[in-house]
Amino acid sequence: MTQRAEGPVLWLDDIGSDDLGAVGGKGASLGEMTGAGLPVPPGFVVTAGSYRTFIEETGIAEDLFEAVAVDTDDSAALARAEARAEELILGTEMPEEMRQGIVDAYADLDDGNAFVAVRSSATAEDLPDASFAGQQETFLNVQGEALVERIKECWASLFTQRAIYYRGEQGFDDRNVDIAVVVQRMVDADKSGVMFTSHPSTGEPKIIIEAAWGLGEAVVSGSVSPDNYVVDRETGETVETTVAEKKVMMEKDAETGETVEREVPEDKREAVVLDDDEIAKLVELGRRAEEHYDAPQDVEWAIVGDDVYMLQSRPITTISESSAEAATADGGDDEGEVLVRGLGASPGVAAGPVRIVRKLDQLDKVGEGDVIVTEMTTPDMVPAMKRASGIVTDEGGMTSHAAIVSRELGVPAVVGAGTATEALSDGQEITIDGDKGTVVAGLREKEAKTEEEDHADVRPQNPVKPMTATEVKVNVSIPEAAHRAAQTGADGVGLLRMEHMILSTNKTPERYIADHGEEAYVEEIVEGVRGVADEFYPRPVRVRTLDAPTDEFRQLEGGGDEPKEHNPMLGYRGIRRSLDRPDTFAHELEAFRRLFEMGYDNVEVMFPLVNDAEDVIRARNLLEDAGVDPEKRRWGVMIETPASALTVESMCEAGIDFASFGTNDLTQYTLAVDRNNENVADRFDELHPGVLALIGEVIETCREHDVATSICGQAGSKPEMVRFLVNEGVSSISANIDAVRDVQHEVKRVEQKLLLDSVR
Ligand code: PEP
Ligand code: MG
Repeated sequence: MTQRAEGPVLWLDDIGSDDLGAVGGKGASLGEMTGAGLPVPPGFVVTAGSYRTFIEETGIAEDLFEAVAVDTDDSAALARAEARAEELILGTEMPEEMRQGIVDAYADLDDGNAFVAVRSSATAEDLPDASFAGQQETFLNVQGEALVERIKECWASLFTQRAIYYRGEQGFDDRNVDIAVVVQRMVDADKSGVMFTSHPSTGEPKIIIEAAWGLGEAVVSGSVSPDNYVVDRETGETVETTVAEKKVMMEKDAETGETVEREVPEDKREAVVLDDDEIAKLVELGRRAEEHYDAPQDVEWAIVGDDVYMLQSRPITTISESSAEAATADGGDDEGEVLVRGLGASPGVAAGPVRIVRKLDQLDKVGEGDVIVTEMTTPDMVPAMKRASGIVTDEGGMTSHAAIVSRELGVPAVVGAGTATEALSDGQEITIDGDKGTVVAGLREKEAKTEEEDHADVRPQNPVKPMTATEVKVNVSIPEAAHRAAQTGADGVGLLRMEHMILSTNKTPERYIADHGEEAYVEEIVEGVRGVADEFYPRPVRVRTLDAPTDEFRQLEGGGDEPKEHNPMLGYRGIRRSLDRPDTFAHELEAFRRLFEMGYDNVEVMFPLVNDAEDVIRARNLLEDAGVDPEKRRWGVMIETPASALTVESMCEAGIDFASFGTNDLTQYTLAVDRNNENVADRFDELHPGVLALIGEVIETCREHDVATSICGQAGSKPEMVRFLVNEGVSSISANIDAVRDVQHEVKRVEQKLLLDSVR
């Protein structure tokens, strides 16, 4: 063993299984890969103990914990706590010995000026991989002296308002929470790609490798079609090589460390990326990774000179089969009495005592395993929804808050049950079926899965992530769902809604800014987006600017100032509101600017409810005014109105990179059917020929202009829509978390059929 473990850091290659508490989940997983002999880029972890020593030796610990011991429902107090914690941590010098230890480790890492990634890895005493991880800071492309400051910023991020709030909600003591910081060399790849260690659709012992020039972002984000190699794992023989034309590549700018897109030099465009030697090295790696984890792996790799690196390895995951099982487990003979019926909005069966929630201050009474019964859920309810085993609402349809959030949380839900809050009583034991939409009397334990069985569903089974030419992405509406969403193996986030980040403050944007200031508002958005962008990095995350109708804002503090509208669906929402309130909108755009500045080059900007090129150009200009260069960043629009579909050509000319179908709105505006009105729910048909005609036209026009197309409405999770879109040539499909796996398979089937048809 080396002596390097002394001091404030632990090197990745010295980390063992009992260091989890010292290095946190992220650090431990990189350490495990390193320990297994997998070639992880070198790095070290500034241990949780160092953070402890820092606050204790400098004498700030007591002040710090006192400053953050506030009432978590008091947002002004939370803001003060964050500011004070930041002041204490950033304003206090690191003890010299510690600083020197870190500086020395950094110098050992390379020749002392390596670009490194600096990532927080939070830990708590009884929760080694704290679930609030991902909320703390990450910095990319850090170099030289900035490192020490960045580490302190990671420490300070343990005390953002959001983090304090979460710990309060989840009953964690601030004193018991620690934070480690991973410092790892960034890899400046000559070539990179992904590798599946078993055949992703058949499970055969075949290794599939995709490779392209430059950094992995190009392959992972799908902006270049990579070479494809199929290798027989037993003989090591390459049985199939498909060389693609590679027009662009991602490179690191030598000065700034930022990732930039460049054209591939003529002579490399059609050249084979990997030689036999490199393939052999990758195959060997794949074998070792699969052996070590005892499951097929989806590996991101990079090659610099002669060195092969593994950046990440994760199991090829599968999606919960619970919906299919629940559907077949319907014995039918000893059904309990159906108490109420609604729409099955989030699959699965849950049993527990009823907790009727009428007002927000009743949320405390919702305990672990209870079933929330309420008129309609609101963003403030999310912490309670997480504790609940199931959710039942009186109101709402398949695109309501309750439906979207419970699906993302993986909590079974029945929505639109009409009289649930009247028909059910507090404490009554019930079982709900989120597939059939029923609520029956009694605890039907046999049907409700134990937690262990539930986990068995998401444990990796045989390799099932099929590779598809059409990208399959995932929709995210609450940042808390980012981890689950990333586990699906989706190619990125096709829609990250910003609404929840703002509505969950329980204030309208205007009121929030009035109470806490512009800075806090911007930070609220940055924090919300960053958790997701980090979880998916470098896979792209398409973030949509605010689109909440006035009736949703009306329920919040400050809602009294909202315009009164007869028909909010046709009113002051989406880009209309943003263009009309450029000052408020500028804060959202400032959040994007900061995210880009931090290195989140996987973030994309999407404008909702545009009607024509004029809307698009005005929004684009505001983006530019906010300091984001629309030429350098990917941005685009939602196609949600017939007008936008019919004028998409002029939007292409205005420079959009993508157009994404919001079929929830496109359907309601094409058919004149209110998406929230249960009286006409049977007429809400996303597959109506009128809707499909608009979609087909848009895809064709966009293809002519080299603009990517996508879908991010609910219909993207429906097989019929998937078949239609793939046949029309859509670039990507974004589905609900629980539908990603099925959509991947459906896309694969359609693509294979298209291929077969073309050769027959
Ligand atoms: C849509 O309209 O399809 C969409 C995805 O946006 P939202 O559901 O948020 O209106
Ligand atoms: Mg919409």
